[in-house]
Amino acid sequence: MAPAAVPQQSNILHRVLADKPHHAVSSSGINIHLANLHNVIDAAGGASVAVLGHTQPSVIEALTKQMTDISYVYSGAGYSSNSAEELASLILSEKPGGLCKAIFVCSGSEAMECALKLARQYHCERGDMKRIHYISRKNSYHGNTLGALGVSGHPGRRAIYEDMLSKNVSFVEPCYVYRGKKEGEDDKAYLERLTAGIEEEFQRVGADKVAAFVAETVSGASLGCATAVSGYFKAVREVCNKYGALMILDEVMCGMGKTGTLHAWQQEGITGPDIQTVAKALGGGFVPIGGVLMNQKVVDALASGTGILQHGHTYQAHPGACAAAAEVQKIIKRDNLMQNVMEQGKLLEKLLKETVLPLKIVGDVRGRGLYWGVELVSDKETKRPFDRGMAVSSKVGASAMALGLGVLPTPGAGSEAPVDILIVSPPYVVTEQDVRSIVGILKAAIEDITRTLE
Ligand code: PLP
Repeated sequence: MAPAAVPQQSNILHRVLADKPHHAVSSSGINIHLANLHNVIDAAGGASVAVLGHTQPSVIEALTKQMTDISYVYSGAGYSSNSAEELASLILSEKPGGLCKAIFVCSGSEAMECALKLARQYHCERGDMKRIHYISRKNSYHGNTLGALGVSGHPGRRAIYEDMLSKNVSFVEPCYVYRGKKEGEDDKAYLERLTAGIEEEFQRVGADKVAAFVAETVSGASLGCATAVSGYFKAVREVCNKYGALMILDEVMCGMGKTGTLHAWQQEGITGPDIQTVAKALGGGFVPIGGVLMNQKVVDALASGTGILQHGHTYQAHPGACAAAAEVQKIIKRDNLMQNVMEQGKLLEKLLKETVLPLKIVGDVRGRGLYWGVELVSDKETKRPFDRGMAVSSKVGASAMALGLGVLPTPGAGSEAPVDILIVSPPYVVTEQDVRSIVGILKAAIEDITRTLE
């Protein structure tokens, strides 16, 4: 087969202006085929999105059927559609953690904007107008729109927009065992220190001013799949309850099955957040879609107040997007893919720890289910990071790409922690052979770049 024709001149403003994009033309299963005939195993599902791979005929059928029946209705004018209702009931019929209503939007950032505004509206409806402050965590990422960026503790991403971001946000230490835990400190002492830090921040700000505490259940792009120590989210829940603040969990990246349960918080010993955001794995990349889930407490505040959701978007609950996402969720259930996430996740963990962790520039391997981060360091003993700007993970990512593997480098330039991480989050349909190939190529790519650093 001859290489596909690629336009000589691109009119798209690509992220790295000087780079030529990888021009994708087709796919099969979890593989992306490029115009130059190069094949790439999509071992991060792009940005941890394509959880069913790229070819699922029934998703296309569901999308086509909905678009044939009715392509668009405006939720702001009071419309709903079969697919929006179906998607909501697929996720919420069992009321996980008391979550009972959904708002569907088009992306993770939009979901975060909506969650922040919903928390504010919750308090206003109850006459608690003072609650305007959000407590988030350092080294966090919650999206690139101004509200979502405002609660993101990532100086690099915020830098030139700082003056445009809300001043009613403050940041506490994240739960980041690899670098956050002190020498000789056990999990219990670490947890107590973190919890005390959250308490202190509520007191400093004025507990009656806090609208919500915001955190990712498993920190993705910011801290490379860093899981919390046992009891952390229980402690967060207790502090929020004590001070009347809402708990918002951002599961845009870690949620909808990646960690082996549909919601990552289901492994944290809590009943659930008040508000939760989801996106990437919700639609599996077939359509742009995100969602905000909330519990009865939040719904009741609105219902017994103005009775009107103050937030809204033109494409909210888009019928086509909801139809495709509903089919993605049905496939995950039908094919018992959570089982595969757990099984292949165990193998992925084993192989990463056996073959990648011992490598000279790998400091830590962490994660859960099919959601793993590999942190690169220049000195394993001291955990000394690579100099800022070296972006070693990007170099490993490029080497892996040349070898036919797509992973997600997050070089963290400008974040507070000197994180240089590769995320490996293969689709839920991954096979044992895929996992072995992924780890084998990743190891070769890391070794390849290690040689250039010597
Ligand atoms: N929240 C988290 C935890 C994310 O990882 C991301 C994106 O990576 C977002 C929010 C923003 O999502 P989107 O890029 O779909 O706007």
